[in-house]
Amino acid sequence: GDEMEIDNNALLRQHYILGPEIGKGAFSVVREATHRESGEKVAIKSINTKFIKNKLLLREIEIMKKVGDHPNILKLYEVYETTRHLHLVLELVKGGELFDKIVQRGEYSEQDASKIVRQIVSAVGHLHASGIAHRDLKPQNLLCSGQDGDDIRVADFGLSKIFDGGEYLETCCGSPEYVAPEVLECKPYDKACDLWSVGVITYVLLTGCFPFWHQHLNILYEKIRNVEYGWPENLDISESAKDLVSHLIEKNPEKRYTYEQCLAHPWVNGTGVSMVKKI
Ligand code: ADP
Ligand code: MG
Repeated sequence: GDEMEIDNNALLRQHYILGPEIGKGAFSVVREATHRESGEKVAIKSINTKFIKNKLLLREIEIMKKVGDHPNILKLYEVYETTRHLHLVLELVKGGELFDKIVQRGEYSEQDASKIVRQIVSAVGHLHASGIAHRDLKPQNLLCSGQDGDDIRVADFGLSKIFDGGEYLETCCGSPEYVAPEVLECKPYDKACDLWSVGVITYVLLTGCFPFWHQHLNILYEKIRNVEYGWPENLDISESAKDLVSHLIEKNPEKRYTYEQCLAHPWVNGTGVSMVKKI
């Protein structure tokens, strides 16, 4: 085991110069690195294999490599598998997590929020059209790129399947605020759960607050199950935005908007967003 580990890590180092740590997840460490041959900077996410519940699922990662070819999906270039680690060589994104930007800014103008939501829905559409559900959409998994940091890259898709569901939700998300009711109720769920999360993310962008929140998890779950949320009265949010969110934060997954319906919605495609700046 150890010999193999050294060999395979040597292979990684043969191709990449490992740089400083730039992030840490519950199951992984992310480092900056430089590809020796091209000089290109990348991010290498190293996952400890003891957290992977089923090695067969590693094949999913090969699928992810093919599916991830979309401007709003974080690119996965290469995978190095060792006995103790899985190293994912990823596109390096410099702008940080959307979560931090929301915290800094408080809330987004409708125009800015619409631009971000459009990119997320476009990425989700690409995944869904390829038969893949993300299952863990939240601002922590949305990385910001580009000069103004408003080019969005969806990260971590498909990964939630690799980890043990319950453990992953509890230890990794820590915050189940974005989770659809059918997921909480352990009903069989599919891609529609991603659109619920898009609705919650849209709400968070527009208000700077969660639609569902409570410090006690069982009360939070109850609120999600009963779709118990309102809009802050001090914010002037357009009817178009509220209409979109109401079709996403929709209890019945069959009635919930699909990505196609989202892309056709005036608030998402830009035809319905007021150009008037909020003051
Ligand atoms: P986990 O799978 O445990 O959620 P993440 O993939 O979210 O771990 O990575 C942990 C941290 O590393 C995050 O805070 C994220 O900002 C950062 N990170 C992950 N991937 C990249 C990347 N490609 N470029 C830059 N930072 C990244
Ligand atoms: Mg993550």
